[in-house]
Amino acid sequence: MIYKRSSALFAKAEKVIPGGVNSPVRAFKGVGGTPIFVKEAKGAYLYDEDGNRLIDYINSWGPMILGHAYEPVVNAVIEKAKKGTSFGMPTEIETQIAELTVSMVPNVDKIRFVNSGTEACMSAIRLARGFTGKDRIIKFAGCYHGHSDSFLIQAGSGASTFGTPNSPGVTKGTAKDTLLACYNDIEHVKALIEANKNEIACIIIEPVAGNMGCIPPKAGFLKGLRGLCDANGILLVFDEVMTGFRLAKGGAQELFSINADIVCFGKVIGGGLPVGAFAARNEIMNHLAPLGPVYQAGTLSGNPLAMAAGLAMLTVLNNDNEIFNRLAKKTEYLHQGISKVLIENNITHTINRTGSMISVHFDEGDVVDFDTAAKGNNETFKKFFHGMLNEGVYIAPSAFETWFITDALTYEDLDFTIATINKVAKTL
Ligand code: PMP
Repeated sequence: MIYKRSSALFAKAEKVIPGGVNSPVRAFKGVGGTPIFVKEAKGAYLYDEDGNRLIDYINSWGPMILGHAYEPVVNAVIEKAKKGTSFGMPTEIETQIAELTVSMVPNVDKIRFVNSGTEACMSAIRLARGFTGKDRIIKFAGCYHGHSDSFLIQAGSGASTFGTPNSPGVTKGTAKDTLLACYNDIEHVKALIEANKNEIACIIIEPVAGNMGCIPPKAGFLKGLRGLCDANGILLVFDEVMTGFRLAKGGAQELFSINADIVCFGKVIGGGLPVGAFAARNEIMNHLAPLGPVYQAGTLSGNPLAMAAGLAMLTVLNNDNEIFNRLAKKTEYLHQGISKVLIENNITHTINRTGSMISVHFDEGDVVDFDTAAKGNNETFKKFFHGMLNEGVYIAPSAFETWFITDALTYEDLDFTIATINKVAKTL
């Protein structure tokens, strides 16, 4: 494929935007090459600036669960925009989307809308700290909760008790309050809690991890966390930015029948516009300003265009009782197809999948946490990524990302993708 115009646009962008992008993973640093500049998209397909058509498995990193430019969402935004784009005053549509989300999500009474998943998670831990009067949080190595300071702590260099910032600019003071645990290792979490008695406000987790590839929770792991939280006065925060309104109407809470204390949302909830949200029971949410002392605010929070897009998308998801099954079936079909061709081509791999989230790790053995995810062969991944791109299939430009399946993908698209993997596998 030709990427002449994308290359030229990237060169121009690099002069005025750091790295040419407004979010790092878009720059293709992990896989090399030139980022594709998208011109437009419809349904399952992206059309780039050079006129190439690509089947999209990123889907804006999750939000476009119904495919691109989904008409009811686009029309809702257009109609809203005609009436003004921001007021900084209450609007009825905020209550409408709040009522709908609270009715879909288990165990929550109130929801507050923000502008990104980062803001949702950042606000959730502030609320957890304000509610419990404790400072520390536990997060899991390899989980991503946005780019606020408390979360830019990852495993590595043997960090087991106190976190080490992985980004300059995060102070040691902030880092020391983020304790790192190993995903799917309940004993490790137990030990951390024991070593930090009465200091932990919350445990925040992606209930299905999607930021080290897709890693499902082991049977009993989430239940184990729930039990530890209950026994120790710790709040359980589910970061459902990826899983919310994707794995089920009620997200991972519903899928695994586990109640979290605070739930964070992003991506699908905004229908492709910049939206995040966090929700909880009244006893917790009533601690938020203006009802309570925990401060949280936003000039553009509850923005009418964003609420219109989110409400239109969630209404479709809420009214379609088959959609999550349909998505899971397509993903299972893809999983089986990929497995078959990779085995036939003798490519060492492990595929993880939950619902419509799936990822291919180029290593053998179970991929259950950050360490096992990091063992994947990055050289193979790079070749795989570029091979797929060259044939018109766009997967995330990093082995640590999940593929998102949309309702717009047809079985023909899936068959084409599997056939393409078969072709690319011969070059690995
Ligand atoms: N939490 C999770 C689980 C995410 O996957 C992401 C983004 N990929 C975030 C939080 C941050 O969301 P945003 O990029 O909208 O700030």
